[in-house]
Amino acid sequence: MNDVIRNYRTVNSEISSELEGRTEQARKVQLVVVSKFHGVERIRPLLEDGHRTFGESRLEEAQEKWSVLAMEFNDVSLHYIGAMQSKKVKDIVKLFDVIHSIDRPETAMRVAKEIDMQGRNVSCLIQINIGQEPQKSGVLPEDFEKLFRICTEDYNLNISGVMCIPPAGLDPSPYFLRMKGVKDTYGLPELSIGMSSDYLCAVSHGATMVRVGAKILGARN
Ligand SMILES: *Cc1c(COP(=O)(O)O)cnc(C)c1O
Repeated sequence: MNDVIRNYRTVNSEISSELEGRTEQARKVQLVVVSKFHGVERIRPLLEDGHRTFGESRLEEAQEKWSVLAMEFNDVSLHYIGAMQSKKVKDIVKLFDVIHSIDRPETAMRVAKEIDMQGRNVSCLIQINIGQEPQKSGVLPEDFEKLFRICTEDYNLNISGVMCIPPAGLDPSPYFLRMKGVKDTYGLPELSIGMSSDYLCAVSHGATMVRVGAKILGARN
């Protein structure tokens, strides 16, 4: 068996057993396989195995790879997890089905406008800089409410959830707890937390989406 498929099966079954042990109502977790920096030949086995949900963080790279793959596999769901640049919004809305990284009013406005003009159905999450780290994108927790209102009331943007990347090297639990709090407070369906190093912790804290790259596809160069 291909190493990627083997890793994929492991991650999937670990997530299932983490969910089984929970008493809360049945919950589904979407595994977003983060395929950035990996070529078509490494992604293809996952598609052939039936996986359809992928995350990318660089527009040009995603366009190159997925213009080829999407012709063969036309029911793929592509998630944009990178930083939002205004000049790229048009093409991001054109290619992606879910955007995890709405982080300021201007981006929200442009995304809403493009969704409208292109007649696309794109689900959006707000990225929260939950560790309040200066080098990270995402809205600060104290500014979330304001951005949420601007998105939903001023721009009519469908905000389905929240996403974060917790500070590296620390226990992510307190950050995941705070994210779950925001999701519940605003009654949002989606919680996008968890990466290769902490996806099981994320599942235990209520993740509905985990974004896993290296653990499945291997290290990136
Ligand atoms: C790269 C990336 C991931 C995946 O990280 P891994 O550690 O490879 O699992 C998840 N989320 C975001 C936003 C990323 O940029």
